[in-house]
Amino acid sequence: MGRLDRGVLVRAKARLDRVDLYPRPVRIERVWIVAAPWLFSLPWFRRFDGYTMWNLILLRSPGLAADEDLICHELCHVWQMQHHPIRMPLSYLRLGYAHNPYEEEARRAAAGRSWEAR
Ligand SMILES: [Zn+2]
Repeated sequence: MGRLDRGVLVRAKARLDRVDLYPRPVRIERVWIVAAPWLFSLPWFRRFDGYTMWNLILLRSPGLAADEDLICHELCHVWQMQHHPIRMPLSYLRLGYAHNPYEEEARRAAAGRSWEAR
């Protein structure tokens, strides 16, 4: 997507810093946002607008970088990986996507709520 807008990452981090999920705040220095439209044409990815792999946030289109809720959700997955580098990705193999607790957690975090604070 050419020039990266780090600002959206900084704003998403500021939102996550207010959510009490993990002992250490999310680190964004090595996080990258990349638009990869070809990826999202593949069967598994078709349903997503964003997909996070470790420190890489992949987007269906460059314009989605302006979607702060989406970036916040994806950055929460980065945060989860920073605390559960094995358990988190394995959970997707074990539990699938739809009912994965990490998805629920990321949805709540992007909405400004922690897992416990309902
Ligand atoms: Zn997600």
